[in-house]
Parts: sequence; C-alpha cells; structure tokens
Amino acid sequence: MRTQLFIDGRWTTPLEGGSFDVLDPATGKVIHRAPAATAVDVDAAVRAARRAFDEGPWPRMKGAQRARYLRAMAASVRRRLEELATLEVLDNGKPLPEARWDIGDVAGCFEYYATLAEELDNHDIEPIALPDPRFVSKAVREPLGVAGAIIPWNFPLLMAAWKVAPALAAGCTMVLKPSELTPLTALELGAIAQEADLPAGVLNIVTGLGPDAGQPLSEHPGVDKLAFTGSVPTGAKIMASAARDIKNISLELGGKSPFLIFEDSDIEKAVEWILFGIFWNQGQVCSATSRVLVQDALHDRLVARLVEEARKIKIAPGMTEGALLGPLISHGQFLKVRAAIDTACTEGAKLLCGGVRPLGLEQGYFMEPAVLVDVPLDSQAWREEIFGPVVCVRRFDTEAQAVALANDSRFGLAAAVMSSDDERTERVASRLRAGIVWINCSQPTFTEAPWGGYKQSGIGRELGRWGLDNYLETKQITRLVDDKPWGWYIK
Ligand code: NAD
Repeated sequence: MRTQLFIDGRWTTPLEGGSFDVLDPATGKVIHRAPAATAVDVDAAVRAARRAFDEGPWPRMKGAQRARYLRAMAASVRRRLEELATLEVLDNGKPLPEARWDIGDVAGCFEYYATLAEELDNHDIEPIALPDPRFVSKAVREPLGVAGAIIPWNFPLLMAAWKVAPALAAGCTMVLKPSELTPLTALELGAIAQEADLPAGVLNIVTGLGPDAGQPLSEHPGVDKLAFTGSVPTGAKIMASAARDIKNISLELGGKSPFLIFEDSDIEKAVEWILFGIFWNQGQVCSATSRVLVQDALHDRLVARLVEEARKIKIAPGMTEGALLGPLISHGQFLKVRAAIDTACTEGAKLLCGGVRPLGLEQGYFMEPAVLVDVPLDSQAWREEIFGPVVCVRRFDTEAQAVALANDSRFGLAAAVMSSDDERTERVASRLRAGIVWINCSQPTFTEAPWGGYKQSGIGRELGRWGLDNYLETKQITRLVDDKPWGWYIK
C-alpha cells in the first residue's frame, strides 16, 4: 500500500507531512495511513499537469500514440486484476466477485478509450460548408487542457477510470483526487502509469480530505476542467468554485431512481432485478433503483417474494466465499442509513425486514437488507437518497400515475421499467425524465453507452463518445481564400 502521492511521474511525500487513517469496513480497524495532500501538494500537481499540457508531447501526439499508453495501462490492470480486486475489497468492503467485475471494467474502459483515441485521428477535423465562396472553414477538436477529477468511494478505481481514460485519450492531462475513504487502488494507478511509461505530469494523484485537497483542486486557476462524481451538496460547491473562473464542468451526482413494475411482469424476474437494483454494492450505487412502484394486482405477491429473497442474501466480509452483501463503507454511513430507516418509520412507512446489524457480525458496518412499504410520498425515505441497502416500495394503479410518481423527484439519474408489453415499456421509457432508462432490468452498465443525469443528478455525460467529448474543445479555423481586397475601410 502506497504512502506517497504521485506527482510529475514521481512518488512524493506530502509537503506538510500529513497522513490519514484508512479503515477496513468489514472490521472497522485501521489498515493503512494514506498520504494527506494539502493545497501545496495540489498546487505542485496542477503545475506538473500544466507543464505536461503546455510544453510536453501529450496533447500534440497522434491519438494512436496515446492509445498505446492507454492499452499498456489496461494490460497492467488486467495483469494485476486479482491484487487490485483484493485491495478494493479491503478498502471498500464489496464482495470479491463484484470487485473483480469492477477491475475488469476498469481495463475495458482504458481499452475502449484507446480505440476512441485512435479514431480521433480520423475525426478531429470536420470541413464546414460556408455560403460565402471567399472563405473555407473547418472545425477542429482539441484537448481541453488540465482536468481536475474528484471522485467518490463506491466504485473507487472504476470511477477513476471513467475520468482518467477519456481525459488521457483526448490529450488532456489530469490531477485525480480520490475519496479519502478509498484511496488505495487509485494510488496504484500511479504505479500503473509508471509501468506504462506515461510521460511525467500527464496523470497526477493526490489523496486527501475533501476540504484540504478537493477544494484547492476545484479552486485552482491552473485547472481548465472539473469532472466531479459525488453528492449534490459537494457538487454545488464545486460548481460554485468553477463559476469563479468559468471552468468547464461535468457533474455526476446522486439519484433516487424509480423502478416501475407492471402487473404483466414475471414475478421471479421482477424480484431478481429489484434485488440487483438496490442491494448490489450494498445499495451504495448512484443509479440504484431505490423507489419501486408496483402495479396493484401484483403488489402483495411481489412484496412477499421480495422479503423472502432479501432475507436469504448472504451477508459477510467481502472476501468470504458466497458473500453477496458486504459492509457499508463507514460507521458514519451505517448511522446515516439507520437514521433514514427510523425516520421513514416515524413518517408512516412499514419496515418488513432488515435495517439491523446481522447476528454474528458484531464488527464492521454490516446491515441486513431492508424492505420498506407504504412509504409516504412526502417522506424523506421516498424523496432523498439513502445510499444503503434499503428499498422503498409503493403501489400504483394506472400507467399515467406510475409515470407521474416516477418523475416526481428532484433527481433524474436513472429509471427502470418492467412489463411484457414492449410497446408499453418503450412508451414509458420515453416519458421518464432520467438520463438512463433500463427496460426489463436494472443497473447493467456499458462503457459504450452515455451515463449521466437529468435535473439535480448532474450535468453532462460520461462514457461512450460523450465521455470523450467531455475533454475536447471545438475550434473553428476559417481561411480567406479570395485575393480581392476586403474593401470595408480601404476602398
Ligand atoms: P461526496 O460528495 O461526499 O465526496 C465526493 C468527493 O468529493 C470525495 O473525493 C471528497 O473528498 C470530495 N470533496 C468533499 N468535499 C469537497 C469540497 N468542499 N471540495 C472539493 N471536493 C470535496 O460524495 P461520496 O459520499 O464520496 O459519494 C456518494 C455520492 O456520490 C452519492 O450521492 C452518489 O449518488 C454519488 N455518486 C454518483 C455517481 C454518478 O455517476 N452519478 C456515481 C457514484 C456516486
């Protein structure tokens, strides 16, 4: 485990010498002390990224050359898959198969953006047809500059890859600030960059607390673009910092995503996808379908099966064979989720199962998966993100009512709809105000498809070609090709 920051291609000790505890959520024990960057380290990292962008070869290379580095990084991630997945379990708590899946996706993300970097060489110049024959014009796509990336703890290395891979593919340089709750695998990305011989300063990694390292990064005048994933309140602060210098910004924030289940759905499939939609990664998923709306005729039978299956989920430390639900990320998160359940009950919801520490798991931050029904529409549980293994269920009568209930939220990250009537699912999908809509499933995520939210769930899109566009500027170059005098001032 790394004890230094990665700045300008070298491992460096924080200038003010600080460090912070990293805990294993399965035991609550300190497993490491990570380097705590402060404003001076962030400044050094931004200066390194600035030099690499302004003077270095990176933004001027062909996309195909950058792609070779990205492929080398992907290969290194694949070589270390088991080691990185284990580190992710230790740091985040998630079950090992989920961590392996994440790390495989990290490698896939670097490979995907390597291909897009290659393709950029053929698509970076677009001729523009003008109505005036005296001019010819073209639009050129260029890297945006130095990007600052600030990310959360729920998919530690994957959230890093979603930003690092497209930024580097586009020709940007980057300073990455991982969450203080999960700094371990992000720091390994420094070693992976070294193994790939990435030019110094192209990728810099500063671990530290939000106000000490994240805030100076978001406020640094040397940063051209801020890419943030995290909570709405922090996103608002980042947007305010960006506003001061008119920095380009993309935000991936929270959600309270609905899952609409119509009465003609297969009940077993519905239960399986509800479980996957909310209990995967302990429910700590921005796109988790935490509000489930079930049509009247199916509601009672479905809720009974849901509770039955939720009770069977194997809760254990992430390294345990067969574990399907690990600990929550921290004691603070455990208390927050517990408080949200208590509030829901005082506001009129009924807790059918879960929400308590499982017997035999006295250490760490484990919680049994919770099913809440009859959740009032104006309750906090229905309206606010809980970010834990808690599903809120309500019944609905008509399609119009279901769509209205689904859209009645300040969030709009994701939504899901299940029915055996394809026309209905397409119609409902088009009416849902969300950036991602799943039909007959919930959560499967592909690097190729756009990711991001409507309303307070964010601004901009990651992944796919939209993810690359996040890190590109568009420049017009217009040439006068006519020899005749312009004749405006000088006749
Ligand atoms: P958070 O907002 O508390 O922290 C996110 C990051 O911001 C961390 O690295 C933190 O250190 C940093 N930070 C904190 N204060 C800061 C400040 N003042 N200035 C700059 N940086 C600061 O979020 P979290 O608890 O780590 O993550 C959970 C949230 O992330 C949830 O709301 C979840 O929905 C959201 N999320 C969204 C997506 C998405 O794609 N939309 C994906 C994952 C998580």
